[in-house]
Amino acid sequence: MSEVDMRKQHFHLPEGIIYLDGNSLGPLPKKAAERIAQTVTGEWGDLLIKGWNEAGWFYQPAVLGNRLAPLIGAPDNSVVLGDTLSIKVYQALAAGLKMRPDRTVILSDTGNFPTDLYMAEGLIKLIDGDIELKVVPPEQVEDHLDESVAVMMLTQVDYRTGRLHDMASLTRKAHDAGAVALWDLAHSAGALPVDLEGSRAEFAVGCTYKYLNAGPGSPAFIYTRPDLADEAEPALSGWMGHASPFAFDMGYQPSPGIERMRVGTPPVLQMAALDAALDVWEGVSMHEVRARSIELSELFIREVESRCPQLTLVSPRASENRGSQVSFAFEEGYAAMQALIAAGVIGDFRAPDVMRFGFTPLYIDAEDVLKAVAVLEDIMTNRTWDRQEFKQRAAVT
Ligand SMILES: *Cc1c(COP(=O)(O)O)cnc(C)c1O
Repeated sequence: MSEVDMRKQHFHLPEGIIYLDGNSLGPLPKKAAERIAQTVTGEWGDLLIKGWNEAGWFYQPAVLGNRLAPLIGAPDNSVVLGDTLSIKVYQALAAGLKMRPDRTVILSDTGNFPTDLYMAEGLIKLIDGDIELKVVPPEQVEDHLDESVAVMMLTQVDYRTGRLHDMASLTRKAHDAGAVALWDLAHSAGALPVDLEGSRAEFAVGCTYKYLNAGPGSPAFIYTRPDLADEAEPALSGWMGHASPFAFDMGYQPSPGIERMRVGTPPVLQMAALDAALDVWEGVSMHEVRARSIELSELFIREVESRCPQLTLVSPRASENRGSQVSFAFEEGYAAMQALIAAGVIGDFRAPDVMRFGFTPLYIDAEDVLKAVAVLEDIMTNRTWDRQEFKQRAAVT
């Protein structure tokens, strides 16, 4: 058995459920439940305010940054945790714009996650400058890299289709055009090997509740290329990013290094969960995870295409152009997904018609994939989805 195969036992996976939505919210690592309980009673309960020093709460954003860094190919002291991904996008984008004051374009693509684009819109409105958010189809990004582009802001893996950008190549092209590169690794971290340092990208951000399994509301991460870490302007000048927060100076002085990207009080309980979630990754090779994820995805595509002709693949067919999820379009995709969930196979749905399935080799194996396809085939063949109860849209899809 390989290291990857041995991880399933570390997760709490409800009986009878096949979980193909770890790309949206990773399952609970058993140790995270224990660690949170221990942090609540043993640290918050018993140490009270002393927890900041004695339990190291204050240092967790940077300590966990160093634990997470190898998973995204980042060096020591280049990653810090905190806040939510939307906020980290905002900070990185603002810092990138500051580095190219004479340029006027933020370049992104239509495969980006809406909140990234919304944060850019909000920032543009706030600075009230002459900045334009240009959103082009993913395959046209490089054609729009010219001397007007201040920041190329992309999400490496498209949340809807799983389409994977070539980070090294696009970063090189952005740099050739003189632009700053900002990568959102929300669907990359814990899904595939990332060589952040090798790419020379200036900034990267991502979340920890998807493939990294740190739980709902767990903190986001931000990376600044080390040679820029002392000059990047954090935009959100909170006290935890101050050079000496407990001097309580009247004026703001950013901390040296990546810690200036901290904003306010870190979410201590979620950090405890993240710490335990990262334990599960110890000794796991991202290259092996990637190889397994490709095997599982290929198996799923092959089986679904031969057994469920009603569904159309919308993910790239070539595995090298795909992240760790597979999406199929089906007109009644929402109802079909609800029927599937009711039958114990959990994926999710993205408007207008995309059924999304995440492949997470730490706790999903080929047997799970075959079982899931059998259930899907049954639902499609018998039109089980065609019931009113499955068509009622919930707030979160
Ligand atoms: C999941 C995801 C987000 C979510 O942002 P939050 O602030 O954590 O809610 C943002 N961007 C991308 C690309 C995502 O995939």
